[in-house]
Amino acid sequence: MNEFTHYNIPLRLLPAYRRERLVVRTDEPAALASALEAEDPERIVGAQIVALDTDSEPLNAWAPGLPLELILRDPVAEFPLLYRHTNLLDNHPARVIVPVAPGFGKAVKVAVSLDFAVRLEVEQPEPALIEEMAAVLEFYLHQPTVAQPIEYFHGSLRGFFHDEPASLWVLQDDDPQYLRYVTDEGVERLSRRLVDPNANIAPDADLGEWIAQVLAVDEECQGCAFLNGCGGYFKWPRRDYDCAGVKRLFGHLRDAAAELRRDLDVGSA
Ligand code: SF4
Repeated sequence: MNEFTHYNIPLRLLPAYRRERLVVRTDEPAALASALEAEDPERIVGAQIVALDTDSEPLNAWAPGLPLELILRDPVAEFPLLYRHTNLLDNHPARVIVPVAPGFGKAVKVAVSLDFAVRLEVEQPEPALIEEMAAVLEFYLHQPTVAQPIEYFHGSLRGFFHDEPASLWVLQDDDPQYLRYVTDEGVERLSRRLVDPNANIAPDADLGEWIAQVLAVDEECQGCAFLNGCGGYFKWPRRDYDCAGVKRLFGHLRDAAAELRRDLDVGSA
């Protein structure tokens, strides 16, 4: 933990977290705005709206500049609800969290077309979902109208471009050095991805050490060209997950970064 660590808490637990830096999540935007009125704005580093069928208007002009995230739970059923939240973009950087589930690509395209940034919430995608991810990656890389980042693709591409691998745990907001996740039941976990109690990691554990001891010892990780950035991310929770598909996506990103560099070199020659 360090001075930048913040806690992602449900709104109802606000009274129990009086000193920490917070991301507060709620399904009641109006309640959020009034509950945080008396709080030190320096402590609030972001807010998440977890139910998109609510009215987010009370947040439009509230705390301008505060990063907001809209969380889709069912991307196919809920993506039309994004239209009702576009006014948030007038005063906030706003990002849509899209779970990688069948049909999620449509939600990504709508979010980006509305000018929201996107972060994919990805677990251990099976082959059919890898194909959908590949299509979204193609869209992100080659569709000129895409003006907003789609994470983790964006951060990984930058990492390959600058030859400084970007940690997937950080890109995906799962690095407990910076973020602790408090469940709706009030149980503090290291990060959202490690909410599984079987992760069995002490609250003060060092994620880097845990990755090295538990995930990256995997034989496939040891021989993987993407270990520096991925850090065994896709070997959790099932250690026998076959990474062929996600490595293919990393390969596309690496090739795209190399192509971009070549284009820039030619342009500046
Ligand atoms: S892509 Fe798979 S094999 Fe490679 S480092 Fe990540 S989890 Fe390990």
